[in-house]
Amino acid sequence: AKTYEHQQESDQDGLLGGLLVQGFDEQSCISRYHSAPYRKNMTRSPSAHLVKRLREQEALQRRCGPGTGAYRRAVERLNTRRNVTGTPADDGTCKYLVLVPYRGLGNRILAMASAFLYAMLTDRVLLIDRGTSLPDLFCEPFPGTSWFLAPDFPLRELENLTGEVPESYRNLVRDGRAASSVSELPYVFVDLDHACTYHDKLFYCDDHREFLHRAPWLLMRTDGYFVPALFLNPAYQEELHRLFPRKDAVFYLLAKYLFHPTNKVWGLITRFYDSYLKNSDERLGIQVRVFDGDTPFKHVLDQILACTSQQHLLPPVVVREPPLRPAGARSKAVLMTGLSSWYFENIRGSYWQSATVSGEVVSVHQPSHEEHQLTGEATHDMKALAEMYLLSMTDAIVTSGWSTFGYVGHGLGGLTPWIMFRPENLTTPDPPCRRAASMEPCLHGPPFYDCRARRGADTGKLVPHVQHCEDMSWGLKLV
Ligand code: GDP
Repeated sequence: AKTYEHQQESDQDGLLGGLLVQGFDEQSCISRYHSAPYRKNMTRSPSAHLVKRLREQEALQRRCGPGTGAYRRAVERLNTRRNVTGTPADDGTCKYLVLVPYRGLGNRILAMASAFLYAMLTDRVLLIDRGTSLPDLFCEPFPGTSWFLAPDFPLRELENLTGEVPESYRNLVRDGRAASSVSELPYVFVDLDHACTYHDKLFYCDDHREFLHRAPWLLMRTDGYFVPALFLNPAYQEELHRLFPRKDAVFYLLAKYLFHPTNKVWGLITRFYDSYLKNSDERLGIQVRVFDGDTPFKHVLDQILACTSQQHLLPPVVVREPPLRPAGARSKAVLMTGLSSWYFENIRGSYWQSATVSGEVVSVHQPSHEEHQLTGEATHDMKALAEMYLLSMTDAIVTSGWSTFGYVGHGLGGLTPWIMFRPENLTTPDPPCRRAASMEPCLHGPPFYDCRARRGADTGKLVPHVQHCEDMSWGLKLV
């Protein structure tokens, strides 16, 4: 025990440069403090200001979270379906952001990271609609409280809310009622679905201090990474710059802070890593996501092979059997993920059937092939999380364009990916892939509006660190 304590003290990085705090029960979530043997050095360190703001947010979550008197009073206001006028939420009462994440797990993870940052920027308590599987996947990030919405929350079927409801931000701004009616409403609903409207997206220009701060409850539905849009909003630019002096690692740091796999998922991760990846000299991740159907496609296999050979990520094979294998050959483990096993079997087969020119030994592994997306089913989602996490533990990574699963895989690992372009007309794109500009995820449904000039604009040209994505020309990402 003594040596162990000593290790803990000297292991500054066990807390990820101050991102994490001590104080959780270690056994209930092993991945939180004991992932060091599986971790490379931090790609980016948190700023002192980020660390300070995280501690403040944790205190806020504890002071106002489920089970507190403040929470009970706030819920009562929802029950009476009226905001109590005369008590603007700035008087120290607690304000909440309820997030309804939805779609696949990659989408939900990006939504949770974005909502957390927004909550921190606007001093709101983040509460997450748990859906059917989230508590099976993630440990609690905040000590002494829960970030999941309590089951007795009075508003039901949150996933059915849309921008059409009278409480929606869309309706408030479209009808010019925003400033006057916020205090009258029990909550305000913000729809940030990737297909939301012009008026919904004005939220991205909103200065929370003007009127939204008067809404004790903000409900939000989103399936994506809206952080790049926050960096376009003049109201948050200064604070964001202090939090993230380097703009290319926002997701990386938020994800390292928020997402700690439960023991069950951690078992999936570590058993696979120890068995198939640990002992190789190098690890390459290849994430295959196909949006044209779950059957195997030759043009996708060709794309993977073209990308990995052109970028010198996988060695070519020889045609004739070499007489002698060079001694001391390096080994490379390839981790493939995908719903189908066909791509994996082909690549593994080719490195079994033929030697490599370099003499390198290439082993190819894929943890699962679920065949079809079954979002919300706990075991299925656990495998998905384990695989995103395993991808993040590789040294280099090739991902499929448009895939939030891929964004999480590389973003969590602090890895700048080679992105394979999404095929059109069932043909291999040329070039097949390209190195991304940063490790950040892409926002798929960005605003097209300049908040300062108050008119439409190319939002990829407004500030140097928000640019269009490699894999989606209209998308936005931080670089
Ligand atoms: P996206 O659709 O590629 O943006 O990623 P999402 O994660 O949001 O949704 C895809 C869902 O399909 C995942 O969450 C999984 O449920 C499933 N899925 C897709 N690819 C894989 C994979 O490689 N492995 C596993 N286990 N599941 C996958």
